[in-house]
Amino acid sequence: MSDKIKMVQPPPGLAGEGFYLTNVDKVIGLGRANSLWPLPFATSCCGIEYMATMASTYDFGRFGTERLSFSPRQADMLLVMGTISKKMGPILRQVYEQMAEPRWVVAVGACASSGGVFDTYSVLQGIDKVIPVDVYVPGCPPRPEQILDGIMKLQEIVKNEPLNRRNSPEYKAMLASYGINVN
Ligand code: SF4
Repeated sequence: MSDKIKMVQPPPGLAGEGFYLTNVDKVIGLGRANSLWPLPFATSCCGIEYMATMASTYDFGRFGTERLSFSPRQADMLLVMGTISKKMGPILRQVYEQMAEPRWVVAVGACASSGGVFDTYSVLQGIDKVIPVDVYVPGCPPRPEQILDGIMKLQEIVKNEPLNRRNSPEYKAMLASYGINVN
C-alpha cells in the first residue's frame, strides 16, 4: 500500500465486529456523487473540450460519470457547454424541467457561465438567467482538467446535500423564482 494513504480508525461506538454505523444522508450522498449521469448540452467549442475529457487521456468515466444520457429523463447532471442564444433559453429550460429530482447543473466555460465574449443582443448572458446552476467552470475554452475539477466540486456538493433539501421551502422558492413549476 502507498505510504501516502493513511488509514484511520472510525470514532468509538460507530464500528464493531460485523457492523459499521453511519447515517443515511452520507450513504446516499456517496452513492449519488459517484454515479452522476451526465446530459451533455453542447452547442459549440466547449463541447469539443468535453469530448477530450471523455476520451482515454482524461477518462471522465473514472468518476462514475461514463454513462452518458441523451434523454433528460435518464440524467441527473446537466452539463451546458457552449454559447446559448436567447432563442435557445426556453429549450434549455425545458430540458432541465424534464430531468427528475435530484438534478444538478454545471455551466462549462465562459459562454455558458456569462455569455463569454459574446456580449450581443442575441446571446444569453449566462444560463443562470433561465435555470439554476450549481458549479461554474471558467475558461474559453476550459481545459479538460478544469472540467474535471468542476465535476469534483459538484461531487462534494452532492455528497453533502441534505436529503430533505429538494422538499425545502427555500429550494421551491428558488425554482419558483425561475418560473419553474414545482409540485
Ligand atoms: S467559452 Fe470559448 S470555447 Fe467555450 S463555447 Fe464559448 S467561445 Fe467557445
